[in-house]
Amino acid sequence: MIKLAVFGDPIRHSLSPQIHHAFGEQAGLRVEYLRILASPAGLRERFQQFADEGGVGANITLPLKQVSLDLADDLSTEAQEAGALNTLILKNGTWNGANTDGLGLVHDLLRLRGALAGARVLLVGAGGAARGVVGPLMRAGIASVHVVNRTPERAEALVQHFLQRQPTWNLSAGALTSMPNSDFDVVINATATGLTSERPQLPDRVLRCKPLCYDMVYGDKATHFMQWALGYQCQVEDGLGMLVGQAAESFRLWTGVSPDITTVTQQLRLQLGQWSDS
Ligand code: NAP
Repeated sequence: MIKLAVFGDPIRHSLSPQIHHAFGEQAGLRVEYLRILASPAGLRERFQQFADEGGVGANITLPLKQVSLDLADDLSTEAQEAGALNTLILKNGTWNGANTDGLGLVHDLLRLRGALAGARVLLVGAGGAARGVVGPLMRAGIASVHVVNRTPERAEALVQHFLQRQPTWNLSAGALTSMPNSDFDVVINATATGLTSERPQLPDRVLRCKPLCYDMVYGDKATHFMQWALGYQCQVEDGLGMLVGQAAESFRLWTGVSPDITTVTQQLRLQLGQWSDS
């Protein structure tokens, strides 16, 4: 039995147990995957208890992605870059910390576009989710990322953080409304506007080349960002595939098996309902 868990608060609605049990079935592995409610202050104790009871892998979700860095003995490049982790893996008695969110997004964009090489990306938002995807996007061969944020200083700080490590990457930053006059192939909404009645106030010309418009939030309704892009006949997708993709990457790190993402995403889509713009 492989004992796994997700830690977070709130945690009751997490889809991760369902996803990982489905991956386990696919792989012919017996998986026990628990939801564990933990506050930032209580995380270490809850995690130690889980490890003492035979836990060998964990996912970490909000609001614990940063505070959980202390639980890891080693960090992957992505976790170091993001300053946050979402996966812990027990290997030879030590806990390795990884961040699979960015690879989850890359898998889904590859599914939607076929290729990412040379793509020009507009990344909207400068919080934890945005920080986690810049490195994996650049390593997937995209040409450039322009980061915009409601608070432009945070976008600039995010870009500087990466340029200090990777000076040759083509990264730039700005405000939502003062966009360079460039075209984009992919626009990613990594803001927390998804479930609200707002959208990031981007100028319409961002959509003039009909980029793929991707919202990291998922559900049975198109977000206002998605509705805006649909109004310009852009290809639009929500973040369900990213959720399953990051889970698949965690599962691979724990078990060495790469699960089939498509079947599980389709099952969840049926369960949640296909998003619509009405
Ligand atoms: P976060 O760290 O709290 O960052 C929030 C971001 O949203 C900031 O850039 C913030 O701008 C911006 N923002 C908030 N309200 C806004 C508004 N009214 N107009 C414009 N910008 C606004 O959150 P996060 O962890 O990065 O998560 C962002 C979203 O990604 C969440 O909805 C989360 O559920 C989703 N996500 C999905 C997946 C997946 O697997 N599908 C994985 C990770 C995250 P300021 O800096 O100006 O405040």
